[in-house]
Amino acid sequence: MMGPSHALSGAAAWLAGSWALDQFAGISQTPLEVAVGTAICAGGALLPDLDMSGKVTRNQGGATVARTFGVASLFVAEVVEKFSLGVYTATKLKRDPRRDNGHRTFTHTLPFCALLAWGTTALADKYGYWAVIGIVFFMGGLALRGLFDEWAERAGWVIVTLASAAIAWFTAANLPSDRGYPLLGLACGVGCFVHILGDMITKNGVPILWPIPIKRRMWMMIGIPNSMAVKVGGKVEVVVLRTAFTVISLLSIAGLFIPGVLERLNLDVWASK
Ligand SMILES: [Zn+2]
Repeated sequence: MMGPSHALSGAAAWLAGSWALDQFAGISQTPLEVAVGTAICAGGALLPDLDMSGKVTRNQGGATVARTFGVASLFVAEVVEKFSLGVYTATKLKRDPRRDNGHRTFTHTLPFCALLAWGTTALADKYGYWAVIGIVFFMGGLALRGLFDEWAERAGWVIVTLASAAIAWFTAANLPSDRGYPLLGLACGVGCFVHILGDMITKNGVPILWPIPIKRRMWMMIGIPNSMAVKVGGKVEVVVLRTAFTVISLLSIAGLFIPGVLERLNLDVWASK
């Protein structure tokens, strides 16, 4: 899938999950907590594609997400891609094909999701406030780039970077520390997982089960059969899936916040019975 679809799927997953937790487990969140979790999850749903590098020296190419912070993120993508390729080459078995590019390898596996979630939580725990600012800044930037694709394209990376900084500052000033920190890590991990699921329904699949060897291959690409695969950027993705993600998001927001608003207005129809 393309960037905006990945970002939307992450946002929808987090909002629907928040609604379910509120409804069935009685875990409620403030609007700010929901907003931050949604943004981070949307950003996390783009992060695995930071393994698509471009040409740093010429400031060209790379996935949309790699261009979020200009040359800086393009450089990060270069490092992530080469590192992923290194992990691939070091752990590949005889049946795994040789590769000269790391796209859709290490960052598209379950261990990477777990590592991302754990790493984010650990960073926030150890360094507190400043780590939170950094994490929200980075993930918020990715989310802006994905969710508001056309705006970001027009505005350019400087404006996107400034907007991310403003979001990070506001969040760090208002998010309660006790529940905020583990929430950040969970949102990153869930977003990453949703990205991998999204790629599984497109052609070629992803090596989600690495490092479990399957049929003497360490990097078995797993996904739905190619004949049923969703075409990247095709009608099913852009119209059907994006509409579905948007509807799920809006319904979840309504489910999360409308009852509270009604209660406050003393218009709760159930209470009047
Ligand atoms: Zn991907």
